[in-house]
Amino acid sequence: MSSAGPASKKAKIGNGTEAQVKKGVTPLLSVDPSLRPWEQSPPLHNRWHPDIPPVATVEQGQIFRVEMIDWTGGQIKNDDSADDVKNVDLTQVHYLSGPIAVPDAVPGDLLKVEFLNMGPLPGDEWGFTGTFHKDNGGGFLTDHYPQATKACWDFEGVYCCSRHIPGVRFPGLIHPGLIGTAPSQELLEMWNEREAALVAEEGTDKEKTLCSVMATRPLACLPNPKGAMLGELGHFTAKTGDPAWDKVAAEAARTVPGRENGGNCDIKNLSRGCTVYFPVFVPGANLSMGDMHFSQGDGEVSFCGAIEMSGYLELKCSVIKGGMKLLPVVGPSPLCVNPIFEIGPLEPRFSEFLVFEGISVDEQGRQHYLDATLAYKRAVLNCIKYLSQFGYTEEQIYLLLSCCPCEGRLSGIVDVPNAVATLAVPLSIFNQDVRPKEGAVLEALAKGISIKKLTPSQAVESNAAAEPEPSDPRLPYCAPCKS
Ligand code: ZN
Repeated sequence: MSSAGPASKKAKIGNGTEAQVKKGVTPLLSVDPSLRPWEQSPPLHNRWHPDIPPVATVEQGQIFRVEMIDWTGGQIKNDDSADDVKNVDLTQVHYLSGPIAVPDAVPGDLLKVEFLNMGPLPGDEWGFTGTFHKDNGGGFLTDHYPQATKACWDFEGVYCCSRHIPGVRFPGLIHPGLIGTAPSQELLEMWNEREAALVAEEGTDKEKTLCSVMATRPLACLPNPKGAMLGELGHFTAKTGDPAWDKVAAEAARTVPGRENGGNCDIKNLSRGCTVYFPVFVPGANLSMGDMHFSQGDGEVSFCGAIEMSGYLELKCSVIKGGMKLLPVVGPSPLCVNPIFEIGPLEPRFSEFLVFEGISVDEQGRQHYLDATLAYKRAVLNCIKYLSQFGYTEEQIYLLLSCCPCEGRLSGIVDVPNAVATLAVPLSIFNQDVRPKEGAVLEALAKGISIKKLTPSQAVESNAAAEPEPSDPRLPYCAPCKS
């Protein structure tokens, strides 16, 4: 079990009675963001594995509320230094609440999950966006912006603003970055096999070509017992060295990518009123969720990432018996399916956008073939360099594009040799007109000087020369050396 925390708050199971309706939605799973992740009760998990037992059960049609801590488990602080982002312990992410069992669900069914409501956790209304250090996490543009940076956001009802990015304010489109059903053992083995095969290509001539235009990052995050939290099976803080725990921790999948079970898909529009249809791979479906975002840009380009926050979800589940047959199987196994979803009715309304184009030609001027990732990278770079002319640092715009409601599109994928990607930024998020026009910005450019920066800037590292040392200062021991 985890190290001792304060008195346990046991999972309460709502029953949909009249009393519950009068009092509001019953919290099924609660968190306390003032506690460390391994002290939460019921226990959290940060890996996918079929043996992680459910911590609560819901009936079909029951409305229930789930609270979640932020994806780093409180490692990032609301302050003006990016040292916490630089030295973040990424073996611990993402912290998930659940699993929640729906007893009627069996493998082969579809679990219909309705997102009835969601928001920041009351009393914890702030969020952060960061860029990871190149050598501890990296990001989409880590070859251009290798340092750790951070912007903290204050929530004002539906709006947010940041003391680290002046002159910007926008409404949030709140969503869970991560929600999914538990994998079966067979599905877990499929993930581990294919991701290990990809990682094995690293440094060989079979290595995927994307890596020739993107800065080197891990090709995939394979299972890693370090930092693993397995719910009621116990946490790394107390269980490392226990053979039964070690076995599960060594094969449990990391939560980093989206996969067949949903997971960390980071879809910014998965907000209030959406309905997701998840494939069921284990009895009870075992639904888990976390990584709440106040707002996110398409692509979540900085990787640290959206406006990250703690939060709550109010959900309702039902089961479509045998419904997995509706999901097309594309691949060698009947498990090669993906969730589908319906979009909700409530989104902020933006009518004017400035749209940046990108093509699959890299920064050295080399032509690539229909590479959509490179095209998107160019669109994002074009946007950063353009908007930084209006008084921002390039790092501020990089942070902003990761978390503001910008729309990324794959506009063309057949016109050889160039894929065309676009990035559309709503004009109303700025308190100045950033459209191309005559005036101060063009005059400054013509004179060869840059326009005066708005202040203050994004939070930066206190010692940019020092290498990152991934650690969580709240652990009772030094995480890298475990002493
Ligand atoms: Zn996130």
